Amino acid sequence: MRVALIGAGIGGLAAALALARRGVAVTVFEQAEALGEVGAGITISPNAGRVLDHLGLGAAVRARGVLPGTQHIRDLATGATIRTIARDADLEARHGAPYRHLHRADLHALLVAAVEAAAPGSIRLGHRLVAASADGRMRFGNGAEAEADIVVGADGVRSAVRDSLHATAPPHFTGQVAWRGLVPADALPPEVAAEPPGIFIGPGRLVLRYPVRGGALLNYAIFVETAAWQEESWSTPSTTAELLAHLETACASVRALVAATPPAWLFKWALFAREPLARWTAGRVTLLGDAAHAMLPFLGQGAATALEDALVLARALASFPPAEALARYEAARRERTAMVQLHSRLLGLRFQGKNPEALGRGPLRNEEELGLFAYDPVTVAI
Ligand SMILES: Cc1cc2nc3c(=O)[nH]c(=O)nc-3n(C[C@H](O)[C@H](O)[C@H](O)COP(=O)(O)OP(=O)(O)OC[C@H]3O[C@@H](n4cnc5c(N)ncnc54)[C@H](O)[C@@H]3O)c2cc1C
Repeated sequence: MRVALIGAGIGGLAAALALARRGVAVTVFEQAEALGEVGAGITISPNAGRVLDHLGLGAAVRARGVLPGTQHIRDLATGATIRTIARDADLEARHGAPYRHLHRADLHALLVAAVEAAAPGSIRLGHRLVAASADGRMRFGNGAEAEADIVVGADGVRSAVRDSLHATAPPHFTGQVAWRGLVPADALPPEVAAEPPGIFIGPGRLVLRYPVRGGALLNYAIFVETAAWQEESWSTPSTTAELLAHLETACASVRALVAATPPAWLFKWALFAREPLARWTAGRVTLLGDAAHAMLPFLGQGAATALEDALVLARALASFPPAEALARYEAARRERTAMVQLHSRLLGLRFQGKNPEALGRGPLRNEEELGLFAYDPVTVAI
């Protein structure tokens, strides 16, 4: 069986690796001309950690990632802690899998190296897919054409594979813009650098901060309700002045974090919500990761669900004839990912509610309380 994966992101690479390890011939077609250092922080929760353990990358993820310990939910205006959440060694022990914050580029680099070792020469750069058809034929922007027994669209939120084969409702702008930044810890006042990881919440504002690279860098994502700008992109630069203008009533430590961001490390992207798709598969072609179920980031499950998809798909393709494998994969994954998509949206609404104090009471309905960490892609029935 020859499997073509469109997109060398986290999901496409993990699927290629899981398939190659099962003896399947894989080719990964990526639009970028080079695979480089892109992105900021990403969360690997135990449901995804099980995939990385299974792929032999768990030790490297534990070594490169940061275990946050205790996360604080704080009032954005005062900095006062409203409640705490344990994300510590006990959590990892309970689930038998890692919970780590990583630099996206570090996780990506681990996957690239593992794919190149398992299937040398299988990653083709400079191949932007322009059309895929249900019989497994593909056409690329550079004029190349290819054919495979199975084609997997792992080509992200604006998937060309999905758009070739499925009529989908256009995504709608949520009225929120997110900024992501990285700050060297030594550029911060020591008392700000030493603050615990977690979130700050306030009306129409949410700030998430956590360390990556052993604490040498602080990653943040700041979500602001504004309709002023609406481009969905990972690479639109911004400025600290633009972001600080949205944080006039934020506490000093959040403002200090933003103010210390190097200009090249601050980006913004508009948040768009998508409804769950009715189908992922058409003939020999299916979808995976953001292409199948792009979600808002409030549960921190974008990369995690892409990793889950990757392993379940590889297990299905290694165990069943192609058409049956795709049907089983989709049946195993669609309900869970739709649930995560919908709950991510709901949690975002609660975080940005008018009364931060309310989050200190009652259930959080966050990723752990929803039971997301218990999912095991290595053994789940398919
Ligand atoms: C550049 C970049 C930076 C990111 N930074 C962060 C971050 O800082 N924090 C965070 O939480 N998440 C980040 N993400 C998103 C996160 O990695 C994904 O949401 C998640 O891992 C799901 O992965 P995926 O493989 O489905 O999609 P992605 O990781 O988005 O990968 C999709 C891949 O497909 C390629 N592609 C797209 N269209 C085509 C095409 N037509 N033909 C061929 N290839 C194509 C893209 O170049 C990309 O490599 C980033 C994604 C990207 C692409």
